[in-house]
Amino acid sequence: MDLKGKNCLVTGGSRGIGRCIAETFAKLGANVAITYARSEDAANEVVEVLKKNGVDAIAYQADAVDFTKAEEVVNNVVEKWGSLNVLVNNAGITKDNLLLRMSEDQWDDVITTNLKSIFNYSKAVAKPMMRARGGSVINVGSVVGISGNAGQSNYSASKAGIIGFTKSFAKELSSRGIRANVIAPGYITTEMTGNLDEKVLASIKAETPLGRAGEPEEVANTAAFLASDLSSYITGEVIRVDGGMAM
Ligand code: NAP
Repeated sequence: MDLKGKNCLVTGGSRGIGRCIAETFAKLGANVAITYARSEDAANEVVEVLKKNGVDAIAYQADAVDFTKAEEVVNNVVEKWGSLNVLVNNAGITKDNLLLRMSEDQWDDVITTNLKSIFNYSKAVAKPMMRARGGSVINVGSVVGISGNAGQSNYSASKAGIIGFTKSFAKELSSRGIRANVIAPGYITTEMTGNLDEKVLASIKAETPLGRAGEPEEVANTAAFLASDLSSYITGEVIRVDGGMAM
């Protein structure tokens, strides 16, 4: 598999799954732009790591909820590299609470960061991808968008929303050669899941047929497949990378 000649944008590429996707794409020969919200040092470090593969790389400080900024970032990437072939909407947060205790802010922050961001960046890339006569949009959902999860009504709703959005986007833009798919990870070892207590962790592993947490590389390899021409006949699909958790 190779991504040579592809120009890619990964939102939330400073840490975790997004960083790993950016590194995997660069190893496969793609130019990669990343965005981040706060982690400037980490983002700059990622850019240096990406460039070691002989590709071009750049980081943008861009809150994913900012509609205008999304357009600015996308236009900048297209100006710099001439086209944008792959978008990975990865930026996301959790603010878990049982519904009875969930505040309006916890609901709004998660829905806006996880779902509106997908609208922002997908809308921004649609025209450049149409001009390039093709592209691949990869949206990072979650298995809880399929199964639901106590304590995560906001997060599950945002991730379920991503599935409906992606299928609609795919139906609107497939005739222009633009594909869109969702990766739905299960429990993956990153900072987002780093503060779960031992009991919760043990029960997640017990509910996972493969009996272990996933690694960011296992999500990144799926993203690389969806970014590549090897997946040329796949659109509107939801691919679980969850060790069998939600089957
Ligand atoms: P993470 O380690 O917490 O990293 C989150 C990334 O998103 C960081 O780069 C962060 O940037 C960026 N980000 C957060 N809010 C942002 C905003 N408003 N604007 C721009 N960037 C923002 O999380 P992760 O575990 O890698 O998760 C990545 C994606 O996978 C998320 O969509 C998450 O919902 C999904 N997912 C994760 C798991 C899991 O088990 N880890 C499971 C299913 C789905 P800063 O560094 O600047 O904060």
